[in-house]
Amino acid sequence: MSEKRDAVPAIDAEATDGRTPFEVFAVDFLTARGAVVEPKGPLDWDATLPPDLAKKWRRQAYRLIFDSERATLPRGGAFAAPGSFAGLRLLETARGAGHVARFHAEAKPGVDARALAGEGIVLHDVDTAKPTLGEPRHVVLVGFHTTLTFQGGSPEQDLRSMLVDPRGPSFDFWEPEERRRAELLPDFPQGFEPAPYDRIALWAETEAWLARVLEPRAARWRKKAEEGREKDLLRLNTFYQTRIQEERDRRRRRKNDEGESEEPATEAALKLEWGRRTKAVRNRYEPAVEVRLWGIEEIARPRQAVTYPLTLKGKSVGALEVEVDLAMGTVVRPPCPVCGRTAGEFWWDGGDLACRRCRGRRPRKQAAGEDGKVPSGDGKAATDGKTAPRKAPKARRKGG
Ligand SMILES: [Zn+2]
Repeated sequence: MSEKRDAVPAIDAEATDGRTPFEVFAVDFLTARGAVVEPKGPLDWDATLPPDLAKKWRRQAYRLIFDSERATLPRGGAFAAPGSFAGLRLLETARGAGHVARFHAEAKPGVDARALAGEGIVLHDVDTAKPTLGEPRHVVLVGFHTTLTFQGGSPEQDLRSMLVDPRGPSFDFWEPEERRRAELLPDFPQGFEPAPYDRIALWAETEAWLARVLEPRAARWRKKAEEGREKDLLRLNTFYQTRIQEERDRRRRRKNDEGESEEPATEAALKLEWGRRTKAVRNRYEPAVEVRLWGIEEIARPRQAVTYPLTLKGKSVGALEVEVDLAMGTVVRPPCPVCGRTAGEFWWDGGDLACRRCRGRRPRKQAAGEDGKVPSGDGKAATDGKTAPRKAPKARRKGG
């Protein structure tokens, strides 16, 4: 249990655990802005606003309901979801102030990083010398919370969160269940200074990763939207062709009845309306995936590096650094140098380590160990001064 931050309302660990990501964001943001936020029940909060927000939003208090299933609202209450009126209001204000929520996890006592790494990572066809242990330290992971809207036809909406290690960078989806299990405590640990990183660049890379992972779904979505559009256009065309034909027939009959007369405008008006509705159908089915970022969390996790010197026939071929998460008591599986997916088992293959899938599939480079470096390093030194094996490019663990 951590010390409570000055303005943080009494939220016990249990309540924190059960909260949804948007709820965490909203409560944390309002608290940081000086509101007094009190829990009223599950997914139900009452926020007494500070003067500036009270003035901006023209209300003294906000009762926020995060339960979308709830049928009725309490007096003065508002549904809070990333796309609701109250939600958009929170997002807009938070973005203006550049709000980032910060959390940390605490190391469990007696975690044997060396033993965990030894059990968790299997290396083939390369020898390892006795591993060295780095100092326990915190590293920052970044959680990006987004709403995905698939536009075109009847829209679909998804909440997706990503957990990113800015050092790689490496990316993964972050499920609400995983976040709950992470036992996060408010704020960074005392005195902790995170390594600087470019938040905007990291978000841009995360968005690019997301687009890549979502591409198969986006392609299916585009196809569905196009089919829907063609169907609606066909219906529309049939309707107007029939109407115009009817109009012509009617005019012909009238002409026969009473000779030359008015109303040449009707057909033109129909054509105009047809064109307008065709355009509306095209717009409605225009497929697009909209990504809205609504929350950023920075999480300091206690980690310890375990570095294995690697040798081949007695000759050094570099090192493999593995991290152990001291709060979870688990090995953080390193990314494969070839594909970037994380793995627990590697083979020495063509002068580098490779995962099961990439084994034997990499283009042959120089003979093993010639450059004395295992996974082609970027020269970045670990905090303990040892040479850190690089992080692989664009890690990707799970599909979308
Ligand atoms: Zn691989």
